[in-house]
Amino acid sequence: MGLFVVATAAVTLLVALSGGAPSTLAHLYYVPILYVAVRHGARAAVAASVVAGVVVGPLMPSSVVGAQHQELGSWLVRMALFVLVGLVAATLAKSQSRPLDVMVRDVFVARGLRAAVRHNQTRVHFQPLIDLTTGDVIGFEALCRWSDSKGRSIPPDRFIPEAERTGVITALGTRVLHQATDQAQLWADEGRTGLLVTVNVSAVQLTDPAFLEGLVKVVRSQSSASFQLCLEITETAIIADPVRALATLRAARDLGVTIAVDDFGTGQSSLEYLAEFPIDIIKIDRSFVAALGTDPKSHALVRAMVQMAHSLGALTIAEGIEEPEQLEALRALGCAIGQGFHLGRPSDADAVDWQTREMTKASVDSTGAGN
Ligand code: C2E
Ligand code: MG
Ligand code: MG
Repeated sequence: MGLFVVATAAVTLLVALSGGAPSTLAHLYYVPILYVAVRHGARAAVAASVVAGVVVGPLMPSSVVGAQHQELGSWLVRMALFVLVGLVAATLAKSQSRPLDVMVRDVFVARGLRAAVRHNQTRVHFQPLIDLTTGDVIGFEALCRWSDSKGRSIPPDRFIPEAERTGVITALGTRVLHQATDQAQLWADEGRTGLLVTVNVSAVQLTDPAFLEGLVKVVRSQSSASFQLCLEITETAIIADPVRALATLRAARDLGVTIAVDDFGTGQSSLEYLAEFPIDIIKIDRSFVAALGTDPKSHALVRAMVQMAHSLGALTIAEGIEEPEQLEALRALGCAIGQGFHLGRPSDADAVDWQTREMTKASVDSTGAGN
């Protein structure tokens, strides 16, 4: 409301300086009214319209210089127009699924992101995947990173949905795939062969024929023993278009690429697709891992997920391990692979912490679980 007060005061001053209320400058009162309507809704819009109507009506003569008062009818009409415009603006703003200011912000995010992809300014961070039996770093999840033109880091949870909505995800996803596989090839060339490298794939990409063509090129350009590429898809991406998703994933599998279901347990799909889809890895969502120590139900659910994955011949990766207790619980439940801040944060490829191994190894040795 602070901006409303400042804007109203500024408009009042301008109208007064220009000679009085009938001046066309009186229309400037629509600016603060629209602002309040969009930001604060219908009630605030009515209040703002009445304030503006009173200020520009009874309090503001039609001629300041001549000290002429306004006709009651003319300022009542103006006040009614203010209220009407305020109410219409508030209704329109409310009918949008996203608030107007969020929409405006997203337009800037999408524009900046498109430019960043065009100029190769997005980066990839790698978060280690740890074998919970041996404590070894067995691979990485590739996670996209982007800082806007002012150098502010924008979280993927904000720019990925925008990239999906605007279609930029196609170019962005291709770039992430290349950056991740190029890095995996570099590691292989240094002797770190056989790493599991997972790349997130959106629903939009899964149903785009160009995605498969790009994947074929990437796979053909790598030597087969260098690393194991894995695509992370969500349950939501599967149910968006199950027929095309299945065709893409089967084709990817035929190329030797493995498939992981990301954030497992948070989607709204049925378990039916688990039998039908070629799934190699189930990534247990971090919400289950976070509640492991405190909620016995989460414990039971994680146990069920591990057993179900096992009977389907799939591996499990537990996401979001932040505490040593969670690590121990997951190990005891037979979860194969772990990922989380406790084991290693996402970082530039150069800053990857291969020593994570020692930390978990110590933990393995002390519990005897690795024997
Ligand atoms: P995700 O695929 O589930 O990735 C894991 C996210 O959890 C990452 O967030 C990671 O930094 C975070 N994380 C890892 N360990 C922990 C932990 O111990 N505690 C907590 N609180 N968080 C942890 P990030 O990098 O912000 O990515 C968020 C999401 O954005 C990803 O979730 C993924 O859905 C999406 N995303 C990121 N990069 C890409 C991409 O290249 N393509 C697509 N399509 N989506 C991406
Ligand atoms: Mg993921
Ligand atoms: Mg995840």
